Amino acid sequence: MKNNFDVVVIGAGPAGSVAACKLMKEGFTVKVIEKMEFPRFVIGESLLPHSMDFLDELDLLKCVEDQEFQVKTGACFYHNEERCDFLFSDQFTQGWTYTYQVKRADFDNALIKETQNKGADVEFKAEVLEVKTGKDQQYVKYLNENNEEIELYCRFVVDASGYGRVLPRMFKLEEPVPTPPRSAVFSHFDDSKRTEEAGRNIFIHAFNDNTSWIWSIPFSDGTASVGIVGNTDYIEECAANDGQKFKELVADFPGLDGRYANVDYKFEPRTVSNYAVSVKQLHGEGYILCGNSTEFLDPIFSSGVTLAVSSGYKAATLVSNFLKGENVNFDDYSVELKKGIDVFRSYVNGWYDGTLQTVFFSDKTNDDIKRQICSVLAGYVWDESNPFVKKHSTVLKTLAKVVQL
Ligand SMILES: Cc1cc2nc3c(=O)[nH]c(=O)nc-3n(C[C@H](O)[C@H](O)[C@H](O)COP(=O)(O)OP(=O)(O)OC[C@H]3O[C@@H](n4cnc5c(N)ncnc54)[C@H](O)[C@@H]3O)c2cc1C
Repeated sequence: MKNNFDVVVIGAGPAGSVAACKLMKEGFTVKVIEKMEFPRFVIGESLLPHSMDFLDELDLLKCVEDQEFQVKTGACFYHNEERCDFLFSDQFTQGWTYTYQVKRADFDNALIKETQNKGADVEFKAEVLEVKTGKDQQYVKYLNENNEEIELYCRFVVDASGYGRVLPRMFKLEEPVPTPPRSAVFSHFDDSKRTEEAGRNIFIHAFNDNTSWIWSIPFSDGTASVGIVGNTDYIEECAANDGQKFKELVADFPGLDGRYANVDYKFEPRTVSNYAVSVKQLHGEGYILCGNSTEFLDPIFSSGVTLAVSSGYKAATLVSNFLKGENVNFDDYSVELKKGIDVFRSYVNGWYDGTLQTVFFSDKTNDDIKRQICSVLAGYVWDESNPFVKKHSTVLKTLAKVVQL
């Protein structure tokens, strides 16, 4: 059977768009199959500067800039009454000093439209049902918007299906995660009471002995995303009765100074339950996974979209080399991706066990250290010249002990 396309990409989120654009840039034909009609809502609205490197490399920045999203220059963490600001203009790695806070419906839509403009065959309202992979040819069956089953053949499949986790489920690649089950409840609120002092960057406030935290992410249209993350039992309680406890917490939260009291919210609170996911392997014969289809740890450092676009880019680079007949070791991809994810893992663990709060809110943490941590928070988790990347598994604990002395 003749191949219809070089590569089929499952999912039109940021990982799928970036993978498709990289593959087209290398001269391959790409079909993107997307289950939903776009624009569609998805959570994950605060980007990291490192994501800009991949968008820039693939000429995807202009379509993002055209949306006039809220510029994000840093992140602001709170704990009790203490505040700790990180500014991306003052960081260790030479990288982007800003990025954006985006409504994902608009962001993802802008990226996939530009991907279409560059030549990808994108089909919306089309759900992948079956994938059979082999050495030389891959088979994909999907249901199109007219409820017809369509079969096609390609040389490689990139799974960028995010929370859909198409191939991890189909090929039984899912693996349990060792962290306690955590969930989130969130909505969008009118944010016209925001003050200059509060700033426009993402605000994160730990509470309940560091087991929970609240985010506020201002958007450029005068609204904001507000959500609470915590142990699943606690979030279920917050989300019960149409999110009554969530709405009360948001209205009265001390660090938010009544900013969201008596304001309109744009939709009933939604939840994402037990969001952490993992897989046994990131690739196999004829397929590769990227974005949330691989592993998702935690939203605390807004790493999801950055990992999605970086893994989409890295996966597509390997696939393209492979299709060009080069000798490719796909394990390099797993090793490379794991390096970055493991750095974030140390920081996520440090956030929930309190190590990071000790470091963030100590007046003994000097500017050099803050700059190095700031680069991790900017997403530069592959810069091994940064000691806070290279020695991520030990450096935070050691530093926390030192500042406590
Ligand atoms: C509570 C919470 C808060 C978060 N906050 C942030 C944040 O502030 N910043 C950040 O960077 N990240 C954040 N994230 C993570 C972020 O949501 C994800 O990492 C990101 O959306 C992953 O992008 P993706 O392209 O891999 O997948 P997605 O954006 O999920 O896209 C996957 C696409 O695949 C499609 N699909 C699924 N199944 C099929 C199928 N069978 N056939 C065809 N198409 C299919 C879906 O419809 C979807 O459009 C957060 C996550 C959670 C849970």
